[in-house]
Amino acid sequence: MPFPDYDAINLKDYYFDTSGWHNPKNIPINVPVPILTSRSCPNQCTFCSMFLLHGKGWRYRSAKNVVDEIEQIYNKYNHRYFSFMDDNMTLLKGRTLEIMHEIIERGLNIQFDTPNGLSLKTLDKEVMDSLVKAGLIRLCVAPENGSEYIRNKLMQKNMTEKQIYDFFELIKDYDNLFVKAFFIIGYPEETKETLEENYKMIEKIVPTISQVSVFNLVPFPGTKIFEDCMENGLLTFPREELHNLKTFSNYNESDEPFIKPYKLEKKDLMDFRERVSELVKHRKKVIS
Ligand code: SF4
Repeated sequence: MPFPDYDAINLKDYYFDTSGWHNPKNIPINVPVPILTSRSCPNQCTFCSMFLLHGKGWRYRSAKNVVDEIEQIYNKYNHRYFSFMDDNMTLLKGRTLEIMHEIIERGLNIQFDTPNGLSLKTLDKEVMDSLVKAGLIRLCVAPENGSEYIRNKLMQKNMTEKQIYDFFELIKDYDNLFVKAFFIIGYPEETKETLEENYKMIEKIVPTISQVSVFNLVPFPGTKIFEDCMENGLLTFPREELHNLKTFSNYNESDEPFIKPYKLEKKDLMDFRERVSELVKHRKKVIS
């Protein structure tokens, strides 16, 4: 497949004010140009609708092909900031190292971020060193949930607490890295006790990171969790509103959970998110 044709648009029309963005190299950001090095992901987390959009098999591009695209945009449009948009970019260690090596070898002075998140299980010291050396400055990762039961048994993340804490220990070595952690709360089986486990995990990692986002579980149609919610009548809004974007934005803005866990009230989840905001507000600043 050919690369996206940026001649068909005027890239400058998409520039916006990025002056407040984390920018350790102090080179223009203007707009993050998206790069997709692979599609889909072989994992099957029960809340994730990715496979419905991108298909079930993981398909990936060669390191050379990925960096050819970056280099073309770098030279032709004098652009220096990119976002890797993959579902699971760092799944294969050798391939990740190859892409980063290619960027470094070609002398591309870029910065990039990973807004969709990288799988923290795949990020050992060697991989982190190469990502940072190649230009990674904003990294999102997803511990997802502090409860082992919810994370592994229900979400099927297959990620131990040790892997999570080892990773947040490791990132202390990278001074100029903005790190954001994603959590999902509100599985049907979430309880006050599991929320507390979430709080403890967030409390523990928060001194080493820049931002935490705690999302309410969204039951996307086609996912296992959606089937469970429908079977057990857990949706907090009418089924026919499901495909109405306005419903989703209203819910997001009001922080209303999309489903009601068996043993919690909606307010418990809203209060929890508020509690985390307070915690983050009062922590020692890392990079903002
Ligand atoms: S949440 Fe991430 S790891 Fe899980 S299936 Fe979706 S893309 Fe893959």
